Amino acid sequence: MLDVKTGMLLLATEAMTVAALLVVVWLQDRSQRHYANWAAGFAMRALAVALMAMRDTIPDALSITLGNAVSLAGFAFWIAGLRQFDKRTAPWWMILPLSIWLVAVSFPVIADTMPYRAVAYGIATATGYTLLAGVALSCRFGSQRYRRLFAGTWAVLALNILMVAGYAFVERPAYALSLSVAPVAGIIAMVGFFSAILIGAKLVMEDSQQRLELLVRSDPLTGMLNRRGLAEAFVDLKRTNSLEPSVIALLQFDLDHFKRINDTHGHQAGDSVLVGFARLAGHMAAGSAVFCRTGGEEFTAILKTGSIRDAANLAETIRRALAERPMRGLIVPMPVTVSVGVAAMPADEADLDRLMNHADRALYTAKQDGRNRTALFHDEAAIVVPANDHPAREPFPAVDDHADRQVAVLRRVAELGGGHTGANTP
Ligand code: GH3
Ligand code: MG
Ligand code: MG
Repeated sequence: MLDVKTGMLLLATEAMTVAALLVVVWLQDRSQRHYANWAAGFAMRALAVALMAMRDTIPDALSITLGNAVSLAGFAFWIAGLRQFDKRTAPWWMILPLSIWLVAVSFPVIADTMPYRAVAYGIATATGYTLLAGVALSCRFGSQRYRRLFAGTWAVLALNILMVAGYAFVERPAYALSLSVAPVAGIIAMVGFFSAILIGAKLVMEDSQQRLELLVRSDPLTGMLNRRGLAEAFVDLKRTNSLEPSVIALLQFDLDHFKRINDTHGHQAGDSVLVGFARLAGHMAAGSAVFCRTGGEEFTAILKTGSIRDAANLAETIRRALAERPMRGLIVPMPVTVSVGVAAMPADEADLDRLMNHADRALYTAKQDGRNRTALFHDEAAIVVPANDHPAREPFPAVDDHADRQVAVLRRVAELGGGHTGANTP
Protein backbone atom coordinates (compact mmCIF):
# COMPACT_ATOMS: atom_id res chain seq x y z
CA MET A 1 0.00 0.00 0.00
CA LEU A 2 1.12 3.51 -0.76
CA ASP A 3 1.45 5.78 2.22
CA VAL A 4 -0.29 9.16 2.14
CA LYS A 5 2.92 11.08 1.57
CA THR A 6 3.94 9.01 -1.48
CA GLY A 7 0.38 9.32 -2.80
CA MET A 8 0.53 13.10 -2.51
CA LEU A 9 3.91 13.24 -4.23
CA LEU A 10 2.49 11.12 -7.05
CA LEU A 11 -0.42 13.58 -7.37
CA ALA A 12 2.06 16.45 -7.50
CA THR A 13 4.00 14.68 -10.27
CA GLU A 14 0.79 14.15 -12.24
CA ALA A 15 -0.24 17.79 -11.93
CA MET A 16 3.26 18.82 -13.02
CA THR A 17 3.02 16.51 -16.06
CA VAL A 18 -0.27 18.16 -17.09
CA ALA A 19 1.43 21.57 -16.62
CA ALA A 20 4.37 20.49 -18.81
CA LEU A 21 2.02 19.22 -21.55
CA LEU A 22 0.13 22.52 -21.50
CA VAL A 23 3.42 24.43 -21.81
CA VAL A 24 4.30 22.35 -24.90
CA VAL A 25 0.87 23.15 -26.43
CA TRP A 26 1.34 26.85 -25.61
CA LEU A 27 4.82 26.92 -27.19
CA GLN A 28 3.27 25.82 -30.51
CA ASP A 29 1.31 29.08 -30.62
CA ARG A 30 2.20 31.64 -28.00
CA SER A 31 -0.79 33.81 -28.83
CA GLN A 32 -2.94 31.15 -27.10
CA ARG A 33 -2.10 32.49 -23.67
CA HIS A 34 -4.84 30.56 -21.90
CA TYR A 35 -2.66 27.42 -22.20
CA ALA A 36 0.19 29.21 -20.37
CA ASN A 37 -2.23 30.25 -17.62
CA TRP A 38 -3.66 26.77 -17.23
CA ALA A 39 -0.10 25.39 -17.13
CA ALA A 40 0.72 27.86 -14.34
CA GLY A 41 -2.45 26.79 -12.48
CA PHE A 42 -1.43 23.10 -12.60
CA ALA A 43 2.18 23.91 -11.68
CA MET A 44 0.89 25.81 -8.63
CA ARG A 45 -1.29 22.86 -7.66
CA ALA A 46 1.69 20.48 -8.05
CA LEU A 47 3.94 22.69 -5.93
CA ALA A 48 1.25 23.11 -3.26
CA VAL A 49 0.63 19.35 -2.97
CA ALA A 50 4.40 18.72 -2.81
CA LEU A 51 4.75 21.30 0.00
CA MET A 52 1.83 19.78 1.91
CA ALA A 53 3.34 16.28 1.49
CA MET A 54 6.51 17.49 3.19
CA ARG A 55 4.58 18.62 6.25
CA ASP A 56 6.88 16.99 8.82
CA THR A 57 10.11 17.58 6.92
CA ILE A 58 9.89 21.35 6.39
CA PRO A 59 8.68 24.21 8.67
CA ASP A 60 4.88 24.65 8.97
CA ALA A 61 5.15 28.16 7.57
CA LEU A 62 6.36 26.63 4.30
CA SER A 63 4.22 23.53 4.29
CA ILE A 64 0.94 25.07 5.47
CA THR A 65 0.92 28.84 5.03
CA LEU A 66 2.89 28.93 1.77
CA GLY A 67 1.54 25.59 0.49
CA ASN A 68 -2.08 26.73 0.86
CA ALA A 69 -1.26 30.17 -0.60
CA VAL A 70 0.32 28.56 -3.68
CA SER A 71 -2.66 26.23 -4.06
CA LEU A 72 -5.09 29.20 -3.90
CA ALA A 73 -2.96 31.27 -6.30
CA GLY A 74 -3.58 28.45 -8.81
CA PHE A 75 -7.26 29.53 -9.00
CA ALA A 76 -6.23 32.95 -10.33
CA PHE A 77 -4.42 31.29 -13.26
CA TRP A 78 -7.24 28.86 -14.02
CA ILE A 79 -9.85 31.62 -13.94
CA ALA A 80 -7.70 33.93 -16.07
CA GLY A 81 -7.10 31.09 -18.55
CA LEU A 82 -10.79 30.21 -18.85
CA ARG A 83 -11.72 33.83 -19.40
CA GLN A 84 -8.99 34.28 -22.03
CA PHE A 85 -10.18 31.13 -23.76
CA ASP A 86 -13.59 32.81 -23.86
CA LYS A 87 -11.99 35.97 -25.42
CA ARG A 88 -12.49 37.99 -22.26
CA THR A 89 -10.06 39.72 -19.96
CA ALA A 90 -8.82 38.31 -16.67
CA PRO A 91 -11.11 39.56 -13.88
CA TRP A 92 -9.81 41.18 -10.68
CA TRP A 93 -11.77 38.74 -8.50
CA MET A 94 -9.58 35.85 -9.61
CA ILE A 95 -7.32 36.74 -6.65
CA LEU A 96 -10.17 36.43 -4.12
CA PRO A 97 -9.33 32.86 -2.97
CA LEU A 98 -5.69 33.78 -2.30
CA SER A 99 -6.68 37.09 -0.66
CA ILE A 100 -9.15 35.40 1.72
CA TRP A 101 -6.40 33.06 2.89
CA LEU A 102 -3.73 35.76 3.27
CA VAL A 103 -6.07 38.00 5.25
CA ALA A 104 -7.15 35.07 7.46
CA VAL A 105 -3.61 33.90 8.33
CA SER A 106 -2.53 37.44 9.12
CA PHE A 107 -4.49 36.86 12.36
CA PRO A 108 -2.25 34.70 14.61
CA VAL A 109 -5.31 33.09 16.25
CA ILE A 110 -6.34 31.68 12.86
CA ALA A 111 -2.82 30.92 11.64
CA ASP A 112 -1.94 28.97 14.81
CA THR A 113 -5.22 27.07 15.39
CA MET A 114 -5.81 24.09 13.14
CA PRO A 115 -9.67 24.13 12.99
CA TYR A 116 -9.77 27.89 12.27
CA ARG A 117 -7.08 27.50 9.66
CA ALA A 118 -8.98 24.63 8.07
CA VAL A 119 -12.16 26.73 7.97
CA ALA A 120 -10.27 29.69 6.42
CA TYR A 121 -8.67 27.44 3.80
CA GLY A 122 -12.00 25.69 3.19
CA ILE A 123 -13.81 28.99 2.57
CA ALA A 124 -11.01 30.31 0.33
CA THR A 125 -10.90 27.10 -1.72
CA ALA A 126 -14.69 26.82 -1.96
CA THR A 127 -14.68 30.44 -3.23
CA GLY A 128 -12.15 29.44 -5.90
CA TYR A 129 -14.24 26.44 -7.05
CA THR A 130 -17.44 28.52 -7.01
CA LEU A 131 -15.80 31.23 -9.14
CA LEU A 132 -14.62 28.56 -11.58
CA ALA A 133 -18.18 27.19 -11.74
CA GLY A 134 -19.50 30.72 -12.40
CA VAL A 135 -16.95 31.32 -15.17
CA ALA A 136 -17.79 27.94 -16.73
CA LEU A 137 -21.50 28.83 -16.79
CA SER A 138 -20.96 32.29 -18.27
CA CYS A 139 -18.56 31.12 -21.01
CA ARG A 140 -19.66 30.81 -24.61
CA PHE A 141 -17.31 28.09 -25.87
CA GLY A 142 -18.15 24.42 -26.31
CA SER A 143 -21.60 22.96 -25.72
CA GLN A 144 -23.86 24.08 -22.90
CA ARG A 145 -24.19 20.49 -21.71
CA TYR A 146 -20.47 20.12 -21.03
CA ARG A 147 -20.19 23.62 -19.58
CA ARG A 148 -22.90 22.74 -17.06
CA LEU A 149 -21.19 19.46 -16.25
CA PHE A 150 -17.92 21.36 -15.80
CA ALA A 151 -19.58 23.87 -13.46
CA GLY A 152 -21.32 21.04 -11.58
CA THR A 153 -17.99 19.32 -10.92
CA TRP A 154 -16.48 22.51 -9.49
CA ALA A 155 -19.60 22.94 -7.32
CA VAL A 156 -19.18 19.39 -5.93
CA LEU A 157 -15.55 20.18 -5.12
CA ALA A 158 -16.61 23.39 -3.36
CA LEU A 159 -19.14 21.48 -1.20
CA ASN A 160 -16.55 18.78 -0.49
CA ILE A 161 -13.98 21.23 0.87
CA LEU A 162 -16.66 23.00 2.94
CA MET A 163 -17.58 19.59 4.40
CA VAL A 164 -13.93 19.02 5.36
CA ALA A 165 -13.79 22.46 6.99
CA GLY A 166 -16.99 21.71 8.92
CA TYR A 167 -15.64 18.38 10.21
CA ALA A 168 -12.32 20.01 11.13
CA PHE A 169 -14.19 22.57 13.19
CA VAL A 170 -16.20 19.90 14.99
CA GLU A 171 -13.57 17.16 15.41
CA ARG A 172 -10.59 19.50 15.95
CA PRO A 173 -7.86 17.00 15.00
CA ALA A 174 -4.16 17.92 14.98
CA TYR A 175 -3.86 16.98 11.31
CA ALA A 176 -6.44 17.35 8.57
CA LEU A 177 -5.56 13.82 7.45
CA SER A 178 -6.77 12.34 10.74
CA LEU A 179 -10.31 13.66 10.15
CA SER A 180 -12.93 10.89 10.03
CA VAL A 181 -14.14 12.27 6.73
CA ALA A 182 -10.66 12.52 5.21
CA PRO A 183 -10.72 9.28 3.12
CA VAL A 184 -14.13 10.06 1.57
CA ALA A 185 -13.26 13.72 1.00
CA GLY A 186 -9.92 12.68 -0.52
CA ILE A 187 -11.62 10.37 -3.02
CA ILE A 188 -14.26 13.00 -3.93
CA ALA A 189 -11.49 15.60 -4.39
CA MET A 190 -9.42 13.33 -6.61
CA VAL A 191 -12.28 12.01 -8.74
CA GLY A 192 -13.80 15.52 -9.00
CA PHE A 193 -10.53 17.12 -9.98
CA PHE A 194 -9.75 14.58 -12.69
CA SER A 195 -13.33 14.71 -13.98
CA ALA A 196 -12.95 18.48 -14.25
CA ILE A 197 -9.73 18.04 -16.25
CA LEU A 198 -11.39 15.54 -18.60
CA ILE A 199 -14.48 17.73 -19.11
CA GLY A 200 -12.21 20.77 -19.63
CA ALA A 201 -10.27 18.83 -22.29
CA LYS A 202 -13.55 17.87 -23.97
CA LEU A 203 -14.63 21.54 -24.00
CA VAL A 204 -11.31 22.57 -25.58
CA MET A 205 -11.74 19.89 -28.27
CA GLU A 206 -15.31 20.99 -28.94
CA ASP A 207 -14.10 24.56 -29.31
CA SER A 208 -11.36 23.55 -31.81
CA GLN A 209 -13.95 21.59 -33.75
CA GLN A 210 -16.31 24.58 -33.81
CA ARG A 211 -13.45 26.83 -34.93
CA LEU A 212 -12.51 24.46 -37.76
CA GLU A 213 -16.13 24.30 -38.87
CA LEU A 214 -16.36 28.09 -38.82
CA LEU A 215 -13.15 28.30 -40.86
CA VAL A 216 -14.66 26.06 -43.52
CA ARG A 217 -17.71 28.33 -43.66
CA SER A 218 -15.89 31.67 -43.73
CA ASP A 219 -14.03 33.79 -46.22
CA PRO A 220 -10.42 34.40 -45.13
CA LEU A 221 -10.17 38.00 -46.44
CA THR A 222 -13.29 39.54 -44.89
CA GLY A 223 -14.14 36.98 -42.19
CA MET A 224 -17.70 36.88 -43.55
CA LEU A 225 -19.50 33.60 -44.24
CA ASN A 226 -18.68 32.11 -47.65
CA ARG A 227 -20.90 30.32 -50.18
CA ARG A 228 -21.06 27.19 -48.02
CA GLY A 229 -22.03 29.37 -45.03
CA LEU A 230 -24.76 30.92 -47.15
CA ALA A 231 -26.16 27.50 -48.08
CA GLU A 232 -26.27 26.51 -44.39
CA ALA A 233 -27.81 29.82 -43.34
CA PHE A 234 -30.48 29.31 -46.01
CA VAL A 235 -31.34 25.86 -44.65
CA ASP A 236 -31.58 27.36 -41.13
CA LEU A 237 -33.84 30.16 -42.36
CA LYS A 238 -36.15 27.67 -44.06
CA ARG A 239 -36.27 25.55 -40.95
CA THR A 240 -37.34 28.34 -38.59
CA ASN A 241 -41.09 28.62 -38.45
CA SER A 242 -42.79 31.98 -38.34
CA LEU A 243 -46.40 32.60 -37.48
CA GLU A 244 -46.87 35.30 -40.10
CA PRO A 245 -46.64 34.51 -43.80
CA SER A 246 -43.11 35.35 -44.80
CA VAL A 247 -40.74 35.45 -47.73
CA ILE A 248 -37.08 34.55 -47.94
CA ALA A 249 -35.34 37.38 -49.74
CA LEU A 250 -31.90 37.28 -51.31
CA LEU A 251 -29.83 40.38 -52.05
CA GLN A 252 -26.98 39.98 -54.52
CA PHE A 253 -24.36 42.77 -54.29
CA ASP A 254 -21.69 43.32 -56.96
CA LEU A 255 -19.21 46.17 -56.59
CA ASP A 256 -19.22 48.45 -59.63
CA HIS A 257 -16.19 48.63 -61.93
CA PHE A 258 -14.11 46.88 -59.36
CA LYS A 259 -11.50 45.95 -61.95
CA ARG A 260 -10.81 49.68 -62.36
CA ILE A 261 -10.16 50.02 -58.63
CA ASN A 262 -7.63 47.19 -58.82
CA ASP A 263 -6.05 48.62 -61.98
CA THR A 264 -5.80 52.16 -60.57
CA HIS A 265 -4.87 51.49 -56.94
CA GLY A 266 -3.46 47.98 -56.95
CA HIS A 267 -4.78 44.66 -55.75
CA GLN A 268 -4.03 45.37 -52.10
CA ALA A 269 -6.12 48.55 -52.14
CA GLY A 270 -8.81 46.46 -53.88
CA ASP A 271 -8.65 44.02 -50.99
CA SER A 272 -9.08 46.77 -48.42
CA VAL A 273 -12.12 48.06 -50.33
CA LEU A 274 -13.59 44.56 -50.16
CA VAL A 275 -12.93 44.44 -46.41
CA GLY A 276 -14.35 47.95 -45.98
CA PHE A 277 -17.53 47.10 -47.87
CA ALA A 278 -17.95 43.79 -46.01
CA ARG A 279 -17.69 45.64 -42.67
CA LEU A 280 -20.09 48.37 -43.66
CA ALA A 281 -22.71 46.10 -45.18
CA GLY A 282 -22.23 43.35 -42.59
CA HIS A 283 -22.80 45.92 -39.85
CA MET A 284 -25.93 47.30 -41.51
CA ALA A 285 -27.33 43.82 -42.17
CA ALA A 286 -26.53 42.54 -38.68
CA GLY A 287 -29.61 41.44 -36.79
CA SER A 288 -31.87 41.35 -39.82
CA ALA A 289 -29.97 39.38 -42.47
CA VAL A 290 -27.11 36.93 -42.90
CA PHE A 291 -24.36 38.56 -44.93
CA CYS A 292 -21.83 36.53 -46.94
CA ARG A 293 -19.02 36.98 -49.47
CA THR A 294 -20.01 34.68 -52.31
CA GLY A 295 -17.44 35.66 -54.95
CA GLY A 296 -14.50 37.98 -55.68
CA GLU A 297 -16.35 41.31 -55.42
CA GLU A 298 -19.74 39.72 -54.93
CA PHE A 299 -21.65 39.55 -51.68
CA THR A 300 -25.02 38.06 -50.74
CA ALA A 301 -27.45 38.77 -47.95
CA ILE A 302 -30.43 36.55 -47.12
CA LEU A 303 -33.24 37.27 -44.74
CA LYS A 304 -36.68 36.09 -43.78
CA THR A 305 -39.12 38.95 -43.74
CA GLY A 306 -42.73 39.92 -44.19
CA SER A 307 -42.29 41.37 -47.67
CA ILE A 308 -39.76 42.06 -50.40
CA ARG A 309 -40.11 45.73 -49.39
CA ASP A 310 -37.92 45.23 -46.31
CA ALA A 311 -35.30 43.53 -48.45
CA ALA A 312 -35.38 46.40 -50.97
CA ASN A 313 -35.02 48.89 -48.12
CA LEU A 314 -31.99 47.06 -46.76
CA ALA A 315 -30.41 46.93 -50.24
CA GLU A 316 -30.99 50.65 -50.74
CA THR A 317 -29.68 51.54 -47.28
CA ILE A 318 -26.44 49.67 -47.92
CA ARG A 319 -26.08 50.95 -51.50
CA ARG A 320 -26.58 54.57 -50.37
CA ALA A 321 -24.26 54.25 -47.40
CA LEU A 322 -21.44 52.98 -49.63
CA ALA A 323 -21.94 55.65 -52.27
CA GLU A 324 -21.88 58.39 -49.65
CA ARG A 325 -18.88 57.13 -47.71
CA PRO A 326 -15.30 57.80 -48.86
CA MET A 327 -13.38 54.51 -48.97
CA ARG A 328 -10.10 54.34 -47.10
CA GLY A 329 -6.97 52.74 -48.57
CA LEU A 330 -7.20 54.32 -52.03
CA ILE A 331 -4.33 56.45 -53.41
CA VAL A 332 -6.70 58.89 -55.08
CA PRO A 333 -10.14 59.23 -53.54
CA MET A 334 -12.62 57.63 -55.89
CA PRO A 335 -16.24 56.71 -55.42
CA VAL A 336 -16.93 53.07 -54.78
CA THR A 337 -20.45 51.96 -55.58
CA VAL A 338 -22.39 48.73 -55.64
CA SER A 339 -25.29 47.38 -57.65
CA VAL A 340 -27.86 45.13 -56.02
CA GLY A 341 -30.26 42.54 -57.32
CA VAL A 342 -33.12 41.50 -55.01
CA ALA A 343 -35.37 38.46 -55.26
CA ALA A 344 -37.86 36.88 -52.87
CA MET A 345 -39.96 33.72 -52.66
CA PRO A 346 -42.50 32.47 -50.11
CA ALA A 347 -40.47 30.91 -47.31
CA ASP A 348 -42.02 27.46 -47.62
CA GLU A 349 -41.26 27.10 -51.33
CA ALA A 350 -38.00 29.08 -51.50
CA ASP A 351 -35.13 27.51 -53.41
CA LEU A 352 -31.62 28.91 -53.10
CA ASP A 353 -30.59 28.29 -56.73
CA ARG A 354 -33.70 29.97 -58.08
CA LEU A 355 -33.39 32.89 -55.68
CA MET A 356 -29.77 33.40 -56.75
CA ASN A 357 -30.70 33.14 -60.39
CA HIS A 358 -33.51 35.70 -60.01
CA ALA A 359 -31.33 38.06 -57.98
CA ASP A 360 -28.59 37.76 -60.62
CA ARG A 361 -31.04 38.72 -63.32
CA ALA A 362 -32.14 41.76 -61.31
CA LEU A 363 -28.49 42.62 -60.71
CA TYR A 364 -27.81 42.49 -64.44
CA THR A 365 -30.62 45.00 -64.94
CA ALA A 366 -29.19 47.27 -62.23
CA LYS A 367 -25.82 47.19 -64.03
CA GLN A 368 -27.44 47.84 -67.39
CA ASP A 369 -29.31 50.78 -65.94
CA GLY A 370 -26.05 52.50 -65.06
CA ARG A 371 -24.85 50.77 -61.84
CA ASN A 372 -25.12 52.10 -58.26
CA ARG A 373 -28.72 50.89 -58.32
CA THR A 374 -31.03 48.33 -56.81
CA ALA A 375 -33.29 46.22 -59.00
CA LEU A 376 -35.97 43.76 -57.95
CA PHE A 377 -36.93 40.56 -59.65
CA HIS A 378 -40.69 40.32 -59.91
CA ASP A 379 -43.05 38.40 -62.18
CA GLU A 380 -40.28 37.13 -64.45
CA ALA A 381 -39.02 40.68 -64.96
CA ALA A 382 -36.52 42.94 -63.27
CA ILE A 383 -37.43 46.48 -62.31
CA VAL A 384 -35.09 49.18 -61.09
CA VAL A 385 -35.91 50.85 -57.79
CA PRO A 386 -36.17 54.61 -58.29
CA ALA A 387 -33.55 56.27 -56.18
CA ASN A 388 -33.59 59.92 -55.34
CA ASP A 389 -29.80 60.10 -55.41
CA HIS A 390 -30.11 59.68 -59.22
CA PRO A 391 -32.59 62.44 -60.01
CA ALA A 392 -31.31 62.86 -63.57
CA ARG A 393 -31.84 59.24 -64.38
CA GLU A 394 -35.12 58.95 -62.54
CA PRO A 395 -37.66 57.39 -64.89
CA PHE A 396 -40.57 58.16 -62.56
CA PRO A 397 -41.02 61.74 -61.31
CA ALA A 398 -42.58 60.33 -58.18
CA VAL A 399 -40.24 61.77 -55.62
CA ASP A 400 -39.99 65.34 -54.48
CA ASP A 401 -36.64 66.56 -53.23
CA HIS A 402 -37.67 66.84 -49.62
CA ALA A 403 -39.13 63.39 -49.35
CA ASP A 404 -37.42 60.85 -47.21
CA ARG A 405 -35.00 58.87 -49.30
CA GLN A 406 -36.86 55.65 -48.61
CA VAL A 407 -40.16 56.97 -49.82
CA ALA A 408 -39.30 56.36 -53.45
CA VAL A 409 -38.37 52.78 -52.75
CA LEU A 410 -41.46 52.19 -50.72
CA ARG A 411 -43.71 53.70 -53.36
CA ARG A 412 -42.26 51.63 -56.11
CA VAL A 413 -42.22 48.46 -54.10
CA ALA A 414 -45.72 49.16 -52.83
CA GLU A 415 -46.79 48.86 -56.44
CA LEU A 416 -45.67 45.26 -56.21
CA GLY A 417 -48.17 44.59 -53.49
CA GLY A 418 -45.48 44.43 -50.85
CA GLY A 419 -44.63 40.76 -51.26
CA HIS A 420 -43.28 38.30 -53.70
CA THR A 421 -46.68 37.93 -55.27
CA GLY A 422 -49.10 40.54 -56.24
CA ALA A 423 -49.38 43.43 -58.53
CA ASN A 424 -48.26 44.04 -62.03
CA THR A 425 -44.87 44.93 -63.24
CA PRO A 426 -45.00 48.47 -64.58
P1 GH3 B 1 -19.00 45.48 -63.01
O1 GH3 B 1 -19.40 46.84 -62.57
O2 GH3 B 1 -19.63 45.10 -64.30
O3 GH3 B 1 -19.26 44.47 -61.95
O4 GH3 B 1 -17.45 45.53 -63.29
P2 GH3 B 1 -16.29 44.86 -62.48
O5 GH3 B 1 -15.00 45.43 -62.94
O6 GH3 B 1 -16.57 44.97 -61.02
O7 GH3 B 1 -16.48 43.34 -62.86
P3 GH3 B 1 -15.50 42.25 -63.40
O8 GH3 B 1 -16.19 40.95 -63.18
O9 GH3 B 1 -15.03 42.59 -64.78
O10 GH3 B 1 -14.25 42.34 -62.45
C1 GH3 B 1 -14.23 41.88 -61.16
C2 GH3 B 1 -12.85 42.08 -60.63
O11 GH3 B 1 -12.76 41.73 -59.25
C3 GH3 B 1 -11.83 41.25 -61.37
C4 GH3 B 1 -10.99 40.65 -60.28
O12 GH3 B 1 -9.62 40.91 -60.50
C5 GH3 B 1 -11.41 41.38 -59.04
N1 GH3 B 1 -11.33 40.54 -57.85
C6 GH3 B 1 -11.93 39.35 -57.64
N2 GH3 B 1 -11.61 38.88 -56.42
C7 GH3 B 1 -10.75 39.79 -55.86
C8 GH3 B 1 -10.04 39.85 -54.62
O13 GH3 B 1 -10.15 38.99 -53.76
N3 GH3 B 1 -9.26 40.94 -54.39
C9 GH3 B 1 -9.13 41.93 -55.32
N4 GH3 B 1 -8.35 42.96 -55.05
N5 GH3 B 1 -9.77 41.89 -56.50
C10 GH3 B 1 -10.57 40.84 -56.78
MG1 MG C 1 -18.75 40.39 -60.41
MG1 MG D 1 -18.33 44.03 -60.21
